[in-house]
Amino acid sequence: MFGDRGVEIKTPEQIQKMREAGLVVGETLELLRKSARAGMTTLELDAIAEDNIRSSGAVPSFKGYHGFPGSICTSVNDVVVHGIPGSRVIADGDVVSIDCGAIVDGWHGDAAITVAVGGVPDTALELMRVTEEAMWRGFAAAALGGRVTDISHAVESYVRSQGDYGIVEEYVGHGIGSAMHQPPNVPNYGRPGKGPKLVEGLALAVEPMVVAGSPESHVLADDWTVVTDDGSLAAHFENSFTLTPAGAWILTELDGGEAKLAELGVPFGGS
Ligand code: MG
Ligand code: MG
Repeated sequence: MFGDRGVEIKTPEQIQKMREAGLVVGETLELLRKSARAGMTTLELDAIAEDNIRSSGAVPSFKGYHGFPGSICTSVNDVVVHGIPGSRVIADGDVVSIDCGAIVDGWHGDAAITVAVGGVPDTALELMRVTEEAMWRGFAAAALGGRVTDISHAVESYVRSQGDYGIVEEYVGHGIGSAMHQPPNVPNYGRPGKGPKLVEGLALAVEPMVVAGSPESHVLADDWTVVTDDGSLAAHFENSFTLTPAGAWILTELDGGEAKLAELGVPFGGS
């Protein structure tokens, strides 16, 4: 069923399938977080991810998506998003963003984390913290009856409050459900109170991409890899979530987001 401006409205049973897909994604990302180390290639991470997704009875949604060759995106240092797993060897001090998607019975989950490998500068750790926290501030700003850009505004406000960071504007969060990318767009910037209404059965992926320098980026000749123009470090965090009458439910977090939402004073809407 489709509601306001083409937004797909899921039944509770369909949301439950999305939770299953979300758990596969969350578990895969936790496995990758533990596995990522200096000396391994990004393709080795991809193999771990694909094996875990398939052995969980799910399908890696990125594989073959518009011809993308990997089961995950591996975006190292100045790569913002869409890095292709390959022969690149991860080095001590690298900051690796890993984006992962899985499908269970036709329903999607999509999430990303940024991992510090070995010793990275405090400024890199702070960039990662700000990006992840901005994502959570987005969830915290979402409530039934509100609007999509309430999330956008909360993400941007938090990033701006933390220092001179750049927010990448060309890539945005999105609706998710029976496809990975659906309406509406969920920008990481902008004024609140705009876009489709936040209603029960809506599911969104919120995914700030924050850089230590200028937010300008370009795509490499492989037609996928997005890098910052000035070579500055980028971080990317993402979760898929929904709203129930009880509160927010982060479908791609292992605990449904319960602990972090409590810390932010936001009611947990999961089951
Ligand atoms: Mg993603
Ligand atoms: Mg996404």
